[in-house]
Amino acid sequence: MNYISTRGDRTQRLFCEILLEGLAPDGGLYLPTHYPQVDDATLTRWRGLSYAGLAFEILSLYITDIPPADLKALVDKTYTRATYGSDAIVPVRRLEDGLYLQALSNGPTLAFKDMAMQLLGNLFEYQLARRGEELNILGATSGDTGSAAEYAMRGKQGVRVFMLSPLGRMSPFQQAQMFSLQDANIHNIAVEGVFDDCQDIVKAVSNDLDFKRRHKIGTVNSINWARLLAQVVYYFAGYFQVTSGAPETGVAGLSPVGSAPPWGGPAAAPSNAERVSFAVPSGNFGNVCAGHVARSMGLPIDKLVVATNENDVLDEFFRTGRYRVRASAETFETSSPSMDISKASNFERFVFDLLGRDGARVAQLFGPALAQGGGFQLTPEEFSRIKAFGFVSGKSSHADRLATIRRTWNDHQDMIDTHTADGLKVGREQQQPGVPMIVLETALPAKFAATIEEALGRAPLRPAALEGIEALPKRFVVMPVDAQQVKAYVEQHCAP
Ligand SMILES: *Cc1c(COP(=O)(O)O)cnc(C)c1O
Repeated sequence: MNYISTRGDRTQRLFCEILLEGLAPDGGLYLPTHYPQVDDATLTRWRGLSYAGLAFEILSLYITDIPPADLKALVDKTYTRATYGSDAIVPVRRLEDGLYLQALSNGPTLAFKDMAMQLLGNLFEYQLARRGEELNILGATSGDTGSAAEYAMRGKQGVRVFMLSPLGRMSPFQQAQMFSLQDANIHNIAVEGVFDDCQDIVKAVSNDLDFKRRHKIGTVNSINWARLLAQVVYYFAGYFQVTSGAPETGVAGLSPVGSAPPWGGPAAAPSNAERVSFAVPSGNFGNVCAGHVARSMGLPIDKLVVATNENDVLDEFFRTGRYRVRASAETFETSSPSMDISKASNFERFVFDLLGRDGARVAQLFGPALAQGGGFQLTPEEFSRIKAFGFVSGKSSHADRLATIRRTWNDHQDMIDTHTADGLKVGREQQQPGVPMIVLETALPAKFAATIEEALGRAPLRPAALEGIEALPKRFVVMPVDAQQVKAYVEQHCAP
């Protein structure tokens, strides 16, 4: 399998060549040249596999430059009961008739980013060892991404993590999760500023190309293709848990899914197969873009429901065809903070497919004008194609989150977090008779205690292993908003 850029550069690269990269050289994102198609027989065969077995089958289609035995070992080491707490790895539970929650948040940091990041840690270690190289990951976090990266990279050979976070602005639980790590290759830097200051420092350091090269600085942001690929697996796993596999139970009268993509490739998806829909709490469009890939491979997904919070860039797009990047003053701090985005960094991938993989048109839409904080409007003809891709959307507010958390607790004694509440609220609105709706649970409530208290008047449930985490010894350094000091710190600590 080869990879190309969404902005027209058709230089073909293999998986391991893009594994440690961010953007393509032309500023686009990487995508495979095509989506391998799964047929009825393949789905039947995959249905019986363990999660790691399924992950191996799917990843093998996209990773052709790691020997199969090595890839199998990496996947087996990643998706274990010890790490995710159950053999199902992503267990689905029934809430009501036709409405399900799929737990993606049972990994070490209690958020879905572990699903991909744990694999990335193992892939990075493997690839760096093969190349005899080292990598220093520099990042900024206000919560989920930073801790998922640290738990994925801790103790890994050849990798160090330097993670900036705004001092005193993360929840005590999130801070404890990160700062209690004692591994020598993990460096927590608490910056005396806000999250934007942390991001600006990362940008300033990355823009010093000489420093970046000399100290082998890299990132693990959400545009990394390997992260997206790892997420494709749980759409299949969710589908298998909710459907029976008997073709005669399919729902008649629904529009075909998995039809041949406009740029060629075989038509897929057994037309009489059972369908499901997924509701996805969305920010940077990474999670739901993996759903788009699964659907494009022929997994019988009816609707992909994009749920946003008050930061509704994506909801606006799917309703109107207008993509309008928000300024920071227009980006709200909400009680589902991991969805607080001003632009959706993975969104360009979907638009590339929507526009028949016309790299020139994508470059025009996402080029310099957009970077300066503008937007674009699709033509009516372009907008009309969205329906065939199954996307619909909706938004949710703080009041909706409180009501949804309360209702789910009162009716089902099931405690959900604020992001999952956004997904459930919008997923319910988009439910169709006869089509199971699977809402992706992207975090556990323990991470967002203040809103749970507000909704339920009690503290959130917490996995037993994390009781008392706030009292553990902490390992971090404090720094002013000063890129020079961060550089000096990295310089001192990046030698083996
Ligand atoms: C990151 C995150 C999201 C948003 O996922 P995207 O891939 O950015 O759309 C939703 N919920 C939680 C808990 C997250 O950590």
